[in-house]
Amino acid sequence: DPLRIRAEAIATTINVPEDVRSLEDLENLLAIGYQKTRPGSFFVPAAEIREITLFGKYESALKKALADHTLRVWFQPIWSVRDQCTVSAEALLRVDCDELRDLSPGAYVPVAEKTGLIRQIGLFVFEEVCRFLSEERIRNSSIRYVELNLSAYQFYDDDLVENFETIRKKYGVDSSRINLEITETAAASGEGEVSETLSRFLEKGYTLSLDDFGTGYSNLIRMTGTHYKNIKIDKSILWNISRDGGGRETLVNLIRFVKGLGSEIIQEGVETTEELDLSVSCGCDYIQGYHFGRPVPEDAFVSGLAGDKEEPR
Ligand code: C2E
Ligand code: MG
Ligand code: MG
Repeated sequence: DPLRIRAEAIATTINVPEDVRSLEDLENLLAIGYQKTRPGSFFVPAAEIREITLFGKYESALKKALADHTLRVWFQPIWSVRDQCTVSAEALLRVDCDELRDLSPGAYVPVAEKTGLIRQIGLFVFEEVCRFLSEERIRNSSIRYVELNLSAYQFYDDDLVENFETIRKKYGVDSSRINLEITETAAASGEGEVSETLSRFLEKGYTLSLDDFGTGYSNLIRMTGTHYKNIKIDKSILWNISRDGGGRETLVNLIRFVKGLGSEIIQEGVETTEELDLSVSCGCDYIQGYHFGRPVPEDAFVSGLAGDKEEPR
């Protein structure tokens, strides 16, 4: 693979077409952007070369993980202010291989998206969530539903709803126990296609959450078009107040506005007692963050539920 060999040697010039041998090379080049320095050649800064090599590394690690069955789904508690206990969880992807074990999916999910691997990965995550919800120990617990992340790229799959429905029925899980999280940016992309698929999920009885609220291109008109059960306020908004001391009034008003649309609020990234108090005083309904628990494998999550009654407050 000439492009990668060169990149590894920290070459800073990639000649086109000599060094671009495959469609994939070209895709990688275009994906990172380039600066034309002279006709037929691109100058690629060292940081971007790193990105090309990581792209290839993550892509092969993900393919290997799919083949070796080393994908995992971990769960992080979501705590209800009203009920004073854990009522839900977010399902989060992990990969149990040397290359990806210690990385956040935030690093490799974009690679899964650009390579189309997200389709298969997304179905795996969904099946794991259904299997989890079908377990007796979960049915008898305080967990009402599970939130899982949907990537904008999954909406390009025409069979997305049917595939989810087949898996869900196989495990006999009620659709009201599944909450699909999409980011503001995903909700804003692909307009018609995305909102049509979301409506179909709503018709089937699934619920929706708007993830990372406050970081993307908030389009208030669009927000009123789809019903979101929950709005998840991004951790950066909370941390801006708790750590940099600004914007509390903005958050209070934002929460009031969102609640007026009939959604409930989940605050992400609550790590300390101060952040918990702040979120509750601003009107948040649910709390997610290291204060109540990090994402953990299923068994550890269930053990954590048993000690839930002793949680602070
Ligand atoms: P997200 O959906 O916004 O998930 C919340 C992220 O915040 C998780 O990171 C979680 O571990 C982290 N987090 C929660 N509470 C705290 C806290 O108190 N402090 C700090 N510092 N972090 C906290 P994670 O697991 O690394 O996932 C990163 C992102 O990767 C997710 O952000 C989501 O966009 C994506 N992702 C994860 N799993 C999946 C998946 O199954 N499918 C898709 N499409 N994307 C996924
Ligand atoms: Mg999420
Ligand atoms: Mg989020």
